[in-house]
Amino acid sequence: MSTTATHCPYCALQCAMTLTPAPSSETGAGAAVEGRDFPTNNGRLCRKGFSAPELLASRQRITAPLLRGDDGEFREAGWDEVLDLLAEKISAMRAAHGPDSIAVFGAGGLTNEKAYQLGKFARLALGTRLIDYNGRFCMSSAAAAGNRSFGLDRGLPFPLTDLQQASTILLLGSNVADTMPPFVQHLEGARAAGGLIVVDPRKSATAALTDDAGGLHLQSAPGTDLELLLGLAHVILNEGLADLEYLAARTSGLAALRRTLAPWWPERTEQVTGVPAAQIRRAAHHLGNAARQARDAVVRGETPAKVFVLTGRGIEQHANGTDTTTAAINLALLLGLPGTPGGGFGTLTGQGNGQGGREHGQKSDQLPGYRKIDDPVARAHVAAAWSVPESLIPGPGIPAAQLLYSLGGSHGGTLPDGTPGPRVLMVHGSNVAVSAPDANRVIEGLRRLDFLVVADFFLSETAAEADLVLPVLQWAEEEGTMTNLEGRILRRRRGLTPPPGARDELWIMAELARRLGAPGTYSRDAREVFDELRAASAGGLADYSGIDYADLDAGRAVYWPFRASEHDDGGAAPAGAMLGTPRLFLDRFAHPDGRAKLVPVRPAPTPPGDAAGLRRVGNGGSRPDGDPSALALTVITGRLLEHYQSGAQTRRTEALAAAAPEARAEIHPAAAAQLGLEDGGWIELRNSQGVVVVRCQYSAAIRTDAVFVPFHYPGLGSVNRLVTSALDPISSMPAFKNAKVTARAVPAP
Ligand code: SF4
Repeated sequence: MSTTATHCPYCALQCAMTLTPAPSSETGAGAAVEGRDFPTNNGRLCRKGFSAPELLASRQRITAPLLRGDDGEFREAGWDEVLDLLAEKISAMRAAHGPDSIAVFGAGGLTNEKAYQLGKFARLALGTRLIDYNGRFCMSSAAAAGNRSFGLDRGLPFPLTDLQQASTILLLGSNVADTMPPFVQHLEGARAAGGLIVVDPRKSATAALTDDAGGLHLQSAPGTDLELLLGLAHVILNEGLADLEYLAARTSGLAALRRTLAPWWPERTEQVTGVPAAQIRRAAHHLGNAARQARDAVVRGETPAKVFVLTGRGIEQHANGTDTTTAAINLALLLGLPGTPGGGFGTLTGQGNGQGGREHGQKSDQLPGYRKIDDPVARAHVAAAWSVPESLIPGPGIPAAQLLYSLGGSHGGTLPDGTPGPRVLMVHGSNVAVSAPDANRVIEGLRRLDFLVVADFFLSETAAEADLVLPVLQWAEEEGTMTNLEGRILRRRRGLTPPPGARDELWIMAELARRLGAPGTYSRDAREVFDELRAASAGGLADYSGIDYADLDAGRAVYWPFRASEHDDGGAAPAGAMLGTPRLFLDRFAHPDGRAKLVPVRPAPTPPGDAAGLRRVGNGGSRPDGDPSALALTVITGRLLEHYQSGAQTRRTEALAAAAPEARAEIHPAAAAQLGLEDGGWIELRNSQGVVVVRCQYSAAIRTDAVFVPFHYPGLGSVNRLVTSALDPISSMPAFKNAKVTARAVPAP
């Protein structure tokens, strides 16, 4: 019985774990994990990580390709049969309707190797420009803001352990105490110092950490994070708390920013956000004073007590998410933090490979290495790495939500330009029927397709709609790498033998490419694919060219960018040695002038997603159209401790499903009383997008004008059915956190 050092298959913290097979077993049956010492988790796991092995031998696992017959039922089929059939369908569709009749949808949970190969496979083997991935629904606003302000996007541009040296952390829109519990240990220093400041419309488990240590919870109205950040920045700039020396030396754009902050004095900010002016001043002064103390310590040659500004999906998943994240970056820049020993700005990536998944060419507008697909130099470089003419690489596609809304070109689905949408879709590692915005519209699109292919290990709600389901490997059965939330590359190792009928997606892509007579090469070996990825990324912003499996296997801490020219240690560095670029921006930012940009941002005149005019100032639901049985509320979506993403995996884990078996709407007792709704009673949430009916759960932790519903569940509890089709104009991020609904008490369905 041999153990394998690996990482948790779920979130971006990628906690280190040791996998042990059951005695006398090489498969997942009876396998167990325990936490492994590692800087990010220090041996800790959450209940999702502890229970991950249960799924390896789940009875619900798909262990042979499933092909839908003429009778509408699935039947098990052989790999040759289904791959021959799929290649024929793709060839026929391309001949009849062109390569863009086929689309590919990837995921932020795929290994770096699979993410890279999927982008190449789509563009070369299928010839389509239509590829995007579910990370568009997670990190796109943060990525767009980071690129705009810093010239480069990496979730945390510093090692996570730097947070342990913090006296002050401003955490906006992230409930790490539930979503990635081992992360909380990195907040303990700031919390103990009374410097943890959490912004959330809900008193989440993370916001509650501020209770007993003198911290601060700013309970802003849903959708007002941008205004709150402008208010904080106003105080910092106008009350002598900004680092003017840093701003002059390392940034551009202060004059324009100053003008946009002028209208946001605390009392006006309070009117919009509901956060008392005194709290806004207190938070701003705490941040400003702590940043000044850190600067002074650095000047004295002492180790500073650092200050950080961190964001999560709560402020990013809005139709103004890029501008809101930009406002958070502006705040950090005013404090003089990014790229200094005194602290920094970072954003907390969510999906397991949410960082690496967005670097290697799954995005509709990017090629490997964070290269822009419409940049002639980038195209020439990648074409050379792929050994094909540059003309074979298609141009930009369209972002995820528009792509999913356009499905079914044979039955009326149209692309944004009015031309027919894709007729065949290949989905890898994503359950869009539950996780995508305006989920009803997405399901309708899936049903309009001529042929839907889903690669997964369970019959997810999306796979259940498919014509063909391809069973693939799980985390403990495959080789590859993942990039965690701090930009550190980690090894995923094969420790178990997969079921005989499951296949690696690298193998599937290689077999399909061979059948299609595709240009380029498609290795089935993760190490070979990684070596090609290194070459394709060389010279790009996310440069992996200096990273090799040998360093990772030796336990070295390797952070991108790591250029091949910098790899001069001869393989002698000890385990734990930091290689590459653990801390970005120390000398310069990634813009050509080396400066960070202070980008002036303003709230939209009419708040995004507020077409019904339901937005109110203050804390309390209102009666839509005077209807005494209904309340206008804002739905906030989010995650529970027990579940991951759409729940396709964790809902199949017995102990997790038992602990959180169904979606529940958290509602303030005062709002519930207005509806005549008892604790545990049924509530209907309705808007023009859809209807959700779930049990309610009283919670004094939420504002009276909001209701919280986790997004892990299908059917009547599928809260993403309420999310509008509104998108951030820069990142194409949907407004997951700000759906306006009419709420009513209803009988049990
Ligand atoms: Fe760690 Fe995230 Fe896995 Fe929990 S789900 S064990 S926090 S990596």
